[in-house]
Amino acid sequence: MLRSVFRCLRTNSVAGQRSMSQSSLAGKVAIITASTDGIGLAAAQALGKRGAHVVVSSRRQANVDQAVALLQSQSIQVTGTTCNVGKREDREKLVRMTLSQYGGIDILVSNAAVNPFFGNIMDSTEEVWDKILSVNVKSAFLMTKLVVPHMQRRGGGTVIFVSSVAGYQPMPALGPYSVSKTALLGLTQALTPELAQSNIRVNCVAPGVIRTRFSSALWQNEGIMEEFKKQLSIKRIGELEEVGGVIAFLCSEEASYITGETITVTGGMTCRL
Ligand code: NAP
Repeated sequence: MLRSVFRCLRTNSVAGQRSMSQSSLAGKVAIITASTDGIGLAAAQALGKRGAHVVVSSRRQANVDQAVALLQSQSIQVTGTTCNVGKREDREKLVRMTLSQYGGIDILVSNAAVNPFFGNIMDSTEEVWDKILSVNVKSAFLMTKLVVPHMQRRGGGTVIFVSSVAGYQPMPALGPYSVSKTALLGLTQALTPELAQSNIRVNCVAPGVIRTRFSSALWQNEGIMEEFKKQLSIKRIGELEEVGGVIAFLCSEEASYITGETITVTGGMTCRL
């Protein structure tokens, strides 16, 4: 009896050690775009707390400085630079800086998105479409294209795209943005078989409404929120850590057999295409 208890304890502790090491990202180098606030910053925190060297970036130097200081204060290994993902020279600088600082790249979290238009989709202009598709979709692909050769040099890697529940069900007044988020679901699947040959996994997260500046017009309006909550099983909006943790899981060895997948983080909204 005693012997079987000890055997059980030993097995559990081995399982515990295994799961700890599989969730660890020690020594991995992670680029997270648009990561000085909101979901990107939460992803940087989640990856950094698991031991990754994180590279944060966004358009404004002051925001980069603030995010780097915050992450350093949490004992996370971090460096940062400005990068507007819509600009080729900025994307190249981000990759160059990461390589010179850390010598390689293992993880890309492509998180940047803009939404310059609210209204009826039929009122949206060519300029709106160019901007949204360029930043939200094309830059996500071009960032991936830039980092893949460096992941191949390391023997593999992980790419995560940040889509949205709006990619499944277009949100009222957010037509072009929603379409750009649907495109990321397609991009995830289009890249998956090709990059699997290089041991690179490609996954996507589709958040519902998460408490950030981007979504504040929604969650700061009590009337809208009451109506919106009817669609939720969990009757509250999501918190940043609840998305950061899913991104970190997808980047970890615990997710080693997951690729081409989109995980919705929505508090139980019905999502289907
Ligand atoms: P957020 O809190 O407003 O943060 C946006 C971040 O992006 C900031 O760090 C901003 O810094 C940076 N940024 C903006 N434009 C950029 C660009 N062109 N290039 C590089 N960085 C840029 O936003 P969020 O809510 O976390 O959204 C992040 C992602 O989650 C987006 O892809 C969004 O579509 C998606 N999402 C959010 C929600 C939600 O409820 N919050 C739901 C579904 C999906 P600078 O101003 O310094 O550039």
